[in-house]
Amino acid sequence: MAEIHWMTAMELAAALESGDLSSREITEALVARTDALDETLGTYLHRTTERALAEAGEADARRKAGEAKSRFDGVPLAYKDLFITKGVPTTSGSKILKGFVPPYDATVVARSHEAGLPMLGKLNMDEFAMGSSTENSGYQLTRNPWDTERVPGGSSGGSAAAVASGMTPWAWGTDTGGSIRQPASLCSLVGVKPTYGFVSRYGMIAFASSLDQAGPLTRTVADSAALLEIAAGHDEMDSTSIPGDRPALLDGIDGGIDGLRIGVVKEFSGAGSDPGVTTLIDQAYARLEKLGATIEEVSLPSFEHGIPAYYLIAPAECSSNLARFDGVRYGARVEGDDIIRMTSRTRAQGFGPEVKRRIMLGTYALSAGYYDAYYGKAQKVRTLITSDLAAAYEKVDLIASPTSPTTAFKLGERTDDPMAMYLSDIFTVPVNLAGNAAISVPAGLSPDDGLPVGLQLIAKSLDEPTMFKAAYAFEQDLGFATSDKGRPPL
Ligand code: GLN
Repeated sequence: MAEIHWMTAMELAAALESGDLSSREITEALVARTDALDETLGTYLHRTTERALAEAGEADARRKAGEAKSRFDGVPLAYKDLFITKGVPTTSGSKILKGFVPPYDATVVARSHEAGLPMLGKLNMDEFAMGSSTENSGYQLTRNPWDTERVPGGSSGGSAAAVASGMTPWAWGTDTGGSIRQPASLCSLVGVKPTYGFVSRYGMIAFASSLDQAGPLTRTVADSAALLEIAAGHDEMDSTSIPGDRPALLDGIDGGIDGLRIGVVKEFSGAGSDPGVTTLIDQAYARLEKLGATIEEVSLPSFEHGIPAYYLIAPAECSSNLARFDGVRYGARVEGDDIIRMTSRTRAQGFGPEVKRRIMLGTYALSAGYYDAYYGKAQKVRTLITSDLAAAYEKVDLIASPTSPTTAFKLGERTDDPMAMYLSDIFTVPVNLAGNAAISVPAGLSPDDGLPVGLQLIAKSLDEPTMFKAAYAFEQDLGFATSDKGRPPL
């Protein structure tokens, strides 16, 4: 048997079922792994070790009694600190939420709990999920396990670093413009942004409500399908959650991709991307073709406007969502002579510079006289992106692209240049604007720098099954993710 910390959730579930391992043993191994590495990597904002061990003991007792809550009962996991967790500090990476202990669980947390997954803790992130490197966290830096001088990506960087370093087999992240897929790509993980409404947003601290979705970060495609299945489904507490049942994701995942039509985007010429990324992604297209897919060029002319549209729409929504942090209701407060002074001092001290930049951008874009020129225009671009994608899906079943134009960059390299940081998400942002599903799957190590590269597969809304099938076929044929080469040198 492999070392416990490198076992996948599927392998751990099998070992629990056969009795080869107990949840207690698994949890202890992951806690020890975290003890050894967390100081270097800076992944956790809050660990719930006692609780995880207690929950593991309960899971073991259930299994013994033949009452396992699910196939994965007893497989531990961790959450991005944006998910509301009852009785456990939740900050969304912001100082303004310091000391906030929520009175309820997010639906994602409640459903993971119902499946019996012990909670290891809460993971670092860019403040309110705004960023691509986790350097905007109000608390600490997180380092990339592949090279600790580099960023893990963001905003779900703590989740990515924890899974990539073997502290947990899986973690929940969130993706508003790329925050699951880009860190997955930079840390050689599988990361999924489901169709908008696939998973409930209830209890996710809102950044941009029309774009935010929860999704898994894992080391294999099957683990992502399994975790997503645990939490997906309609939730009456989120009016944007899609009604009805969700398609099965794990069942049939090994169905192959013979005859699948995959589009590559004409406008993504490789300009602005690392040559090593382009090389690996071209090889990935060839592999998909070898596996029986046909590759066709599709044109998505509006995609180049994705970043500017996103950086109007997301800040506009955040300026409104973040108005609730006023020093009265949650977390930190800085006193002042009256309520205006108290609120402005609390916000001035509680928010970091990127969050302030976004609130100002969004407030400006929504203000009278500018609304049509900025927010209204961005909404039109959003419609164009959605219709360009719909037209492409008349010809193809999936669209493939790099996930990120570059491999992991150095800590500090882009902190003074917001535009350079924003461009990290050039390939991922259009998917959130259109609401479709997408996955990032490891494509190997760049010949330029030996760092991970991710392949993005974009599916039609609610066509997660096809996306998982293609990602699975690619992963199995490449044979990289679960090999020694697919793990960081730790
Ligand atoms: N990097 C993008 C941003 O800063 C996306 C973040 C996200 O998906 N949460 O907004």
